[in-house]
Amino acid sequence: MSSSLNLGRFAGIKVQIHWTFWLLFLFIAFLVFTQGGDFTTLFWHSLFIICIFICVVLHEFGHALSARKYGIGTRSITLLPIGGVANLKKIPDNPKEELIIAIAGPAVNVVIALLLIPFVSIDAYAGMDPETLQEELSTITSQNFMFYLLMANFALVLFNMIPAFPMDGGRIFRSVLSMKMGRVEATRIATGLGKFLALLFFLYGLFFSIILVVIPVFVWFGAHSENIMIQQFDLMDGYTIRDAMITQYSTLRPDEPLQKAVERILATTEQDFIVSDDYQIHGIIYMADLAEALKKTGKETPVRRIMDTDFVILHPHEPLHSAYRKLRRDNRNFFPVMENGKLVGVMDLNNINEFLTFRSAFDY
Ligand SMILES: [Zn+2]
Repeated sequence: MSSSLNLGRFAGIKVQIHWTFWLLFLFIAFLVFTQGGDFTTLFWHSLFIICIFICVVLHEFGHALSARKYGIGTRSITLLPIGGVANLKKIPDNPKEELIIAIAGPAVNVVIALLLIPFVSIDAYAGMDPETLQEELSTITSQNFMFYLLMANFALVLFNMIPAFPMDGGRIFRSVLSMKMGRVEATRIATGLGKFLALLFFLYGLFFSIILVVIPVFVWFGAHSENIMIQQFDLMDGYTIRDAMITQYSTLRPDEPLQKAVERILATTEQDFIVSDDYQIHGIIYMADLAEALKKTGKETPVRRIMDTDFVILHPHEPLHSAYRKLRRDNRNFFPVMENGKLVGVMDLNNINEFLTFRSAFDY
């Protein structure tokens, strides 16, 4: 979503705060004031939230920087009220790499906790009688701040190690299983456990703490879509773009009017068109842009004036799953396929979905 606040780049990785994150402060203010707190209490609570989220960002950097070690880049790190997300460009296929990347996040919080221990007077807390201790820790103050931060880091480790895929613990579980069995089977088991745990947490949240229902929903859908994706990748394994690309399509010449594109869209099932003369590609006309362009410039405008000249080119010998990744990532999901400088086909998501349907129905 575009409504994220950009904090800048750290180690080359964009760090941003999603707009919903600020709701957390409203929620904290609500909690503090309804429980008779004042602005000092609000200050310590807010500072605490900020510190926890710095720890969360460092946790995400643990994932991102260890991924970089294996040549996997990170698009961004986003802070949400429920935690952080490191948006890796790809999940490694190698179980050992996945294991190390997944462990690196919680490991950062273990290191932070170890660094905090000298600043926390654990002995003093241990010597207190239960009532004084409860009084001392009833709310966050300048005296017990470090203690709270230490506990928060331990909580982050424990929480993330819950084996509910796609949480870190679930990824660790999947990678260990992958070493023993195939990745498809390992994913099926790990995401199945993730969905089961999500359901348990969801039910618990429903009855005991309604705030807890958000995370299981994310976990459930995360696990579900990963399982489907891995199965789809498996179906595409060994196939190249040439096996699934569209070879019957029409192109538009640069000087043809927009009217021609509209006629073609209505008369066929085609929606987007390559603009080319002979085999040279000049650009692409997308149906999504057409109505707007017609309103602005009229139907006689040559297509070359509104065509998009910045597009991804696929090669027929590329693995099919690589095209699938690119198509899903791009908001334009219609790419030309070229070989030796010549247009040999086109590819869209619809066509890959058709390929998957027939591959799963029988061994195409
Ligand atoms: Zn993590």
